[in-house]
Amino acid sequence: MQFTSESVEALVEQFTKLPTIGRKTAQRLASYVLKMHREEVVELAKALIAVKDKVRFCPICYNVTDTLPCPICASARRDPGMVCVVEEANDVMAFERTGDFHGVYHVLGGAISPLDNIGPEDLHVRELLARVTRTLALPGEVRARATGFEEGEAPLIHEVILAMNPNVEGDTTAHYLSMMLKPFNVPVTRLARGLPIGGDLEYADEATLARALEGRSSM
Ligand SMILES: [Zn+2]
Repeated sequence: MQFTSESVEALVEQFTKLPTIGRKTAQRLASYVLKMHREEVVELAKALIAVKDKVRFCPICYNVTDTLPCPICASARRDPGMVCVVEEANDVMAFERTGDFHGVYHVLGGAISPLDNIGPEDLHVRELLARVTRTLALPGEVRARATGFEEGEAPLIHEVILAMNPNVEGDTTAHYLSMMLKPFNVPVTRLARGLPIGGDLEYADEATLARALEGRSSM
C-alpha cells in the first residue's frame, strides 16, 4: 500500500484498471478527485453508473445509444443503404466529426485477432450479414413490411464501406468481411490508404479521415 488511506488506495486500484492508465496517472487522478467538490464527484459517479444502466446497443447498428434505434438509424436524413462498418463506437464519432458521411453504420465491437482469441463469432458479423441479406433478398413490398418503411423507400443496401483500423487486425477483418459479403453481390469498398499504418481511426484527424472516405476503393 502506498497511500495511508485505504479509500484512496482503492480508487487508485480502480483507475489502473482503465486502458492507458498506469499507476502514476492513477495516483494523479485520485489526488485530483480528493480536491474536487463533493457535488462534482457525485456527478462523475452518476455518469459512470448511467452509462451502464441507460446505454443500450442499437438493435440495427450496434452503436451505443440511449434511445432505440439510435439517432443515426432513426434519422430520415441519412442514407440507410450506405453502411459504414467500423470496429468500435468511437470510430462512429470520428466519422461523425468529419461531417462528410451521410450513410449509416454497423459497429462490429472489435476486430478479428487470433492472438487475442477474437474470432468473427465474437463480433457483430452475423448481424451485418443478416442486415445485408434482409434488405437484398426480399422483394420491395416484403422489404417494406420487414423494415417498417414505405414500399419504394425500404432501404436497399447499395454500398458497404469497410472502415477498419489500418493495422493487421483491421486488414484481417476487412478481408474476412469482403469474402463473406461476396455472395450478396453488394458493392464493397474500403477506405483509401493514407491513414497512418498501425494507427487507430479514432485518432485520425478529420481531414485525413474525410479524404480516406472520399478516396475509398472497391474490394
Ligand atoms: Zn443504430
